[in-house]
Amino acid sequence: MTSPQSQSYLIVGAGVFGVSTAYELIRKYPHASVTIVDRDAWDADTRVAASWDWNKVVRADYDDIIYCKLALEAQDIFENDPLYQPFFHKTGIFWICRSDYASAVVDNYKKLGRKAELSAVPVSEARKLYGGLFEDADYTGGVQDVLVNKTSGWANAGDALRAVTKRSIELGVKYVVADIDSLQFEEGGRCTGVKTTRGNSLTASHVVLCTGAFTAKLLEQAAQASGKPDISAGDRIIAGGIATGMTTLDEKSYERFAKMPVGVQGYNVATGPFIGSLPPTRDRELKWWGQKIFKNTQNILGRQISAPPNEPDYAQWKVSGPLKQDIAHANNVFYGKNGANWKMEKHRICWDAFTSSSDFIISPHAAAQGLYVATCGSFHGYKFFPVLGKYITQMLEGTLEPELQAKWGWDAKRPAAETNPDFPRFEMNDLLDSKARL
Ligand SMILES: Cc1cc2nc3c(=O)[nH]c(=O)nc-3n(C[C@H](O)[C@H](O)[C@H](O)COP(=O)(O)OP(=O)(O)OC[C@H]3O[C@@H](n4cnc5c(N)ncnc54)[C@H](O)[C@@H]3O)c2cc1C
Repeated sequence: MTSPQSQSYLIVGAGVFGVSTAYELIRKYPHASVTIVDRDAWDADTRVAASWDWNKVVRADYDDIIYCKLALEAQDIFENDPLYQPFFHKTGIFWICRSDYASAVVDNYKKLGRKAELSAVPVSEARKLYGGLFEDADYTGGVQDVLVNKTSGWANAGDALRAVTKRSIELGVKYVVADIDSLQFEEGGRCTGVKTTRGNSLTASHVVLCTGAFTAKLLEQAAQASGKPDISAGDRIIAGGIATGMTTLDEKSYERFAKMPVGVQGYNVATGPFIGSLPPTRDRELKWWGQKIFKNTQNILGRQISAPPNEPDYAQWKVSGPLKQDIAHANNVFYGKNGANWKMEKHRICWDAFTSSSDFIISPHAAAQGLYVATCGSFHGYKFFPVLGKYITQMLEGTLEPELQAKWGWDAKRPAAETNPDFPRFEMNDLLDSKARL
């Protein structure tokens, strides 16, 4: 068997899954050939990647103990590694829970032996915290308590992604800008590379798809072009979009909100997904994500598949009135009258790949040797940036522990989508401006 040092790795997609993998591989195997290919330059002013963003929540507040443990491992790197540390802000989190989520998280920290300033706080007490910033939030719908974790926070997402990509390139990773149209297979069925929309080929002994929301579409195109139906993702991977919005705080509001924690409104499957609000950036921009998660089902070579819009920028800046309204709703359930006069200035639609369990897929593709899939951040993948590459490399080497293989496998057993509050439940087409739909 050839040594990993002489292997070649072609990683499609330069979001956190792809970049973390490239960074891990080039440090572990400095003589291996590691290439990332993405349709956007790593230092472009705007990108379609979900990982490219002003900010993302970094927390280990999970009721699932596996993600809790992994997120703690990642957060320690965010806090201590000089490469990540400048981008992490330990502001704390204020999570309004409509289930026993808070106590489950506190329990997980205990089980993992992790000491941290976190507790489940009764609503009456929580309203007064942080100078009453959340006094006017929505606490209806069976709120049990508020999870307050002083050790959670957020990261300047796009800046951290850029920094780790830059470091990887300095260490020897090759970065190619190209749009990938399909995959290439040799006669025995092994995947040998990719084909760009301009007709060029890139080859490697390992092809790793870290293509986020585009994955199902790419696999469908590859399945049809190669006549190999099993390459298709089937119903494993769904592209979903969510609107985000920002306001620039005036001097007075900034003074009040500058030290705020991340805010989360937790709901349940009957009501909808959780909503979040992130503390102001250095430009005084406070952000929300909305509650409407939607598919964009298209006819792709005869199959109905959800994928981002066809425009090169995924039409991410074209945000309809109903989606802007969703952000206004998010503002209201956190800040009520305090935020009633804020002007919403920036809106974006962010696309990610989802599974029905919200678990990642980090796995060999079952239908072709040499082909690997590492994606499906399912709306919570960013925070694992510092450790994803370690686990994806273990998967490539066949050393991923059985528990994680079972959780992230291509053919893992997954629940019905209806049981997951965060699974896309709208169609983008039904959320357009009514005029545009005519
Ligand atoms: C609104 C929103 C808020 C979120 N908030 C948080 C949060 O607070 N905390 C958190 O931990 N997570 C959060 N997430 C989830 C997180 O952002 C994603 O799970 C994670 O960034 C996904 O990373 P990725 O590498 O899989 O995909 P991406 O970051 O989307 O990267 C995929 C890359 O593949 C490239 N690509 C795809 N197809 C092709 C092709 N055919 N040819 C060339 N290039 C291609 C794209 O250009 C892109 O750069 C959020 C997601 C959304 C949508």
